[in-house]
Amino acid sequence: MRFAPFVLLAALPWPSAAWDTVPHRQVTRAALESLPSCSRERLGTEAAPLVEIYCLYPDRYLEMDRYGFVRGGPGPRSAREIRAYCVRPDGELVHGISGDRAYDRKSLDFLLTRIAAALRSNHTAEAAKYAGVLSHFISDSLSPPHAVSADELNRILPEPPFPVNLHSSIERSLPALTLRPSTAAWSNPDTILDQCYFEAARNLKDLPAMVKAVYAHDEAALDIYRLRAGTRAAEILAGAMASLLAQR
Ligand SMILES: [Zn+2]
Repeated sequence: MRFAPFVLLAALPWPSAAWDTVPHRQVTRAALESLPSCSRERLGTEAAPLVEIYCLYPDRYLEMDRYGFVRGGPGPRSAREIRAYCVRPDGELVHGISGDRAYDRKSLDFLLTRIAAALRSNHTAEAAKYAGVLSHFISDSLSPPHAVSADELNRILPEPPFPVNLHSSIERSLPALTLRPSTAAWSNPDTILDQCYFEAARNLKDLPAMVKAVYAHDEAALDIYRLRAGTRAAEILAGAMASLLAQR
């Protein structure tokens, strides 16, 4: 099923196309910290760069590939360096759900099979890099303004009382989040996709309320939606990682 209003990430303007850097790290860290210690240990020293660097790969790939922009600090220096993690073998980008379920299933299969294969062969750094892209995929799919196109978002309330970028106003930050330890584990890609689509539909329903909160400068009201999205993203990621890390 195709949801017309969903954003195709490739069409999004940069840099307001995503959760900011810190929310991606928060989601990834919360997911990893909720896993049993034996699962976390399997990532070893790669858990830290997974949180700090790898979960940003899809944004960094686009920045470098399209705009030639290389961030300062640690991490990749060229798009070519991380292309293998962010672009499927058929040449399509992996970033977040697109609304085209078949396309999204291919992206998820790409990530899950590579994480599993890398873990099986003890290539932990490879597994962690693909897991970083998986984290980004889930988080961006649940980012509230991604439920509609940028144009559609600006049409929800056509005459703003002050100049505002709705997209980045809604998703620039995320309250502190921690997950309860959970034994949930889903190995079926459709289970992951179902949850992403469900949360995106919920964001779509609540977007008018979020836009009103932006116009009212009501950060407390916005934080309720941000926290819900971030928590659910971390829970979905934790369930996927729990299943992958349990496989031998
Ligand atoms: Zn992104």
